[in-house]
Amino acid sequence: MADRPRFGPAGVPPSFKAMKATLIDVPRLLREEGLDAFEYQAVRWGAKPQIKKEDAEKLGLKARENDVLLSLHASYFINFCGDKETIEASKARLIACATAAQWMHAQTVVFHPGFYGKKTPEEVFEGCLEALKDVVEKLKTWGIREVKLGPETMGKPSQFGSLEEVLALCEEVEQTQPVIDWAHLHAREQGLFKDVGEFRRVVEAVEKRLGTDAAKNMHCHFTKVEFTDKGEKCHHTMDEAGYGPDFTLLARVIAEFKLKPVIISESPVLDVDAIKMRDILQKELKAIA
Ligand SMILES: [Zn+2]
Repeated sequence: MADRPRFGPAGVPPSFKAMKATLIDVPRLLREEGLDAFEYQAVRWGAKPQIKKEDAEKLGLKARENDVLLSLHASYFINFCGDKETIEASKARLIACATAAQWMHAQTVVFHPGFYGKKTPEEVFEGCLEALKDVVEKLKTWGIREVKLGPETMGKPSQFGSLEEVLALCEEVEQTQPVIDWAHLHAREQGLFKDVGEFRRVVEAVEKRLGTDAAKNMHCHFTKVEFTDKGEKCHHTMDEAGYGPDFTLLARVIAEFKLKPVIISESPVLDVDAIKMRDILQKELKAIA
């Protein structure tokens, strides 16, 4: 749970890499930029954590010292909609990610639930629900209780992960929290966010289904996005005109509802745009103060 709106990048920013910074340096460098969140990328992981426990713990320590809130993006190789074998392998991958998240005291493990394939949305939902409940049971027995699993809203109509599906999963499974990827919703719905009302409706849907705390403490991804009739195509920077969604409108809703989301920038210029988003929100907060 964030104590205030927080901003940070999805992964290590290119400029940090250019100065040969190590993972342990990242929280300090983010703090120097005035950022206060970081989403560690475990997106290529298999069935075991691919970070040493002591390195994960060190990252967690540095994050706490620098007041940077951590989350972890789980493996892309998770698909809870596939056959039995795929689902079992996916469970192991998600558990590996949650284990490392606990080591670093990351709050949320973001994951992509999967693809519909040839199954109906109803079949896929049931399969996903069952798999997720099993993962949570296992996490409980191993004492991994502080980490929340965060199914993400997905950017293509072929992917399981509409807002409705994500909220329904979180309603049914404990130790979960919805991850609202605004660009994905925008692309999935062919340019959903045209005005402030559309943003409001998403926040209200989260509140109605999961309660006020869930709405206040959303974990979000944001970037400008290009889409086709098949949904998400690619990400764009905040400076590129002609692409949505418009962060100013979301910032207005954050200010209006006094939300405290964690907003992870997935823009091609990760931290640079996280700073821009933070500044836009500051302006909106001042405007209504
Ligand atoms: Zn994602």
